[in-house]
Amino acid sequence: MADALIGLGGNVGDARLSFARAIPAICGGANAALRARSSDYRTPPWGEPDQPSFINACIAIETPLAPGDLLAVLHDVEQEFGRDRAGETRWGPRTLDLDILAYDDQRIDLPGLTIPHPRWFERAFVLVPLAEIAPDRAIGGQTPRQALAKIVATGITRLPALA
Ligand code: ATP
Ligand code: CA
Ligand code: CA
Repeated sequence: MADALIGLGGNVGDARLSFARAIPAICGGANAALRARSSDYRTPPWGEPDQPSFINACIAIETPLAPGDLLAVLHDVEQEFGRDRAGETRWGPRTLDLDILAYDDQRIDLPGLTIPHPRWFERAFVLVPLAEIAPDRAIGGQTPRQALAKIVATGITRLPALA
């Protein structure tokens, strides 16, 4: 079993509803068990500023899957929730983005899979939810709390839980 951290993002359709349904799709069966879930946050777009704000969250899971198999499951769930990779631009609008931020504290460099996620420590939309559920977890030599202290994290709003 491995402890993995997954980042969720989306800004097309009802992203909060997508998260609410996608998390059980990831964790409902034998692929993973949910250990923690952050609040949802409204966050400014990153990379491509001319698009609607995003909803972001993070989850901690326990999984028997190898990293590549976990990524395949996440890609299937993205697709199930309307992700259209062929029709999108990099860092542009999307219904659901699921990134593996960490897998235990392993360093993995495979074609198409880098863990820890290469940009996790520089993105407020990752660090704010991550610091909520795993502030002191060691990821590639630093913790979310330490990484968050080094960046400017403005414009991020924690959203109340859905009824
Ligand atoms: P970013 O990676 O900067 O967050 P993105 O999430 O918009 O950008 P995608 O288009 O969703 O990028 O994914 C591009 C590719 O990134 C995927 O096909 C996947 O193979 C690869 N990838 C590499 N490392 C990871 C990881 N840790 N988690 C998820 N995907 C990864
Ligand atoms: Ca991403
Ligand atoms: Ca992604």
